[in-house]
Amino acid sequence: MLLDVKDLEVTYGRTRAVRGVSLSVAEGEIVTVLGSNGAGKTSLLRALQGARKPQGGKITFDGRDMTNASPATRLAAGMALVPEGRQIFVSMTVHENLLMGAYLRGEGGLDRDLDAIYERFPNLATRRDMKASVLSGGEQQMLAVGRALISRPRLMMLDEPSLGLSPLFVAKLFALIREINDGGLSILLVEQNTHMALDVAQRGVVLELGREMLSGSAAELAADPSLAEAYLGAA
Ligand code: ATP
Repeated sequence: MLLDVKDLEVTYGRTRAVRGVSLSVAEGEIVTVLGSNGAGKTSLLRALQGARKPQGGKITFDGRDMTNASPATRLAAGMALVPEGRQIFVSMTVHENLLMGAYLRGEGGLDRDLDAIYERFPNLATRRDMKASVLSGGEQQMLAVGRALISRPRLMMLDEPSLGLSPLFVAKLFALIREINDGGLSILLVEQNTHMALDVAQRGVVLELGREMLSGSAAELAADPSLAEAYLGAA
């Protein structure tokens, strides 16, 4: 497994946001983490990124124990996060935002990788020297993905990337997720858009109040009556 998470615990004071969650992502796989507001999805990703120290459990990436590693160590090892709400730097240009994703890597091949990102996202290329604040929500999400891609990750973790996007951009985003996965990148996708996430992922985990409620192949989850009732709008 590329990413292996065992019995992870994340607490804020007395709130146990993540309660003994285990999951894994194999090389080349898309795994989705589903669950409603407050289920612990963002807390899980923050612990995986290294922004929040877990109170228990173990995080292994590519055979290395990352449980207590710094965010920079994880990023350098290939774990990149596209955070909730994009968190791009609106007062910086599009190009400067992309360069922020490259700060831990060498200059080698950087121009080529930037060209590849501009080729993939023509809207970013035409706005390269403009402030990121001029971008639409969908374009900002593409920039956040581009910023993660420029770090040359092996695993991309996305926190509710479709949130607030128009249906057209949601469709574009999921096509992009499929495309970068086809290029060999493994993906851990946190989503509330259950339908789309199960359509693109091979496996999934459903969290409820910090605990794993269900897990299995995407097909099994899509067919599960309790998931259908809770998240897929079925009666
Ligand atoms: P959302 O979709 O709303 O982001 P989520 O599934 O990502 O939800 P988390 O944001 O991880 O869930 O929240 C899990 C629990 O932890 C919630 O009860 C939340 O109130 C609590 N929590 C999250 N962040 C903090 C914090 N910084 N301080 C205190 N409690 C927090």
